[in-house]
Amino acid sequence: IVNLNKTYKSAGKTLTVLDDINFAIPASSVNAIVGPSGSGKTTLLGLCAGLDRSTSGSIKLNQIDLNQLSEDKRAQVRNQYVGFIFQNFQLLPTLTALENVMVPLELRGEKNIKARALDLLDKVGLSARSHHYPLQMSGGEQQRVSIARAFSNQPKILFADEPTGNLDAETSDKVVKLLFDLNQDAGTTLILVTHDMDFAAKTQRILRIKGGKLVSDTLTQA
Ligand code: ATP
Repeated sequence: IVNLNKTYKSAGKTLTVLDDINFAIPASSVNAIVGPSGSGKTTLLGLCAGLDRSTSGSIKLNQIDLNQLSEDKRAQVRNQYVGFIFQNFQLLPTLTALENVMVPLELRGEKNIKARALDLLDKVGLSARSHHYPLQMSGGEQQRVSIARAFSNQPKILFADEPTGNLDAETSDKVVKLLFDLNQDAGTTLILVTHDMDFAAKTQRILRIKGGKLVSDTLTQA
């Protein structure tokens, strides 16, 4: 990430949400982004994952400059390298848990997608809920479906926006373990936004954002 800026224009005013952000994330590392509400964490995560385009600066993922790509090409790069766990799950309400997890596999034109999606749901402890629709599941269950979906394309890098924010302590521990196991087993790079400083302390590096600026970048003892 080099000299990254993001501004929004509304009612004739320019709002600077990210201001000259610079950092590099090594492959297979585990990183937390922390900061007050409204400081720009979700915006930063979305830009890094290629969900949105920055106003200026560059974001390279595996040497590919996301800002130089068309919308279609960015979607291809996302399918190939990126997993994303949204703060509010973003499951498709008209699809079952199983079908939600199958979507990225279908997009990649993969084979045996039903069996693989069932496997992923089993991994997050939800085999018994595979035919349930999002509205028939608790917040924690929906979060785990969104995690299974994010894992399904075997991402090189996984972004998670407050993955434990809506969960009770026990489910939260399970989710943290799932994420850290993915890093251990597959070497997946993790970038996690969290308000939970105990969770952040378990990562290797904490990036703190305040008022759209990167105010500290600290290696932890983890
Ligand atoms: P939280 O911890 O509450 O989730 P955050 O640190 O993730 O907050 P962002 O969601 O990145 O913060 O928002 C940063 C700022 O950008 C906020 O002031 C928000 O109102 C503003 N913002 C976000 N999206 C837009 C948009 N599409 N148009 C205008 N302003 C926006």
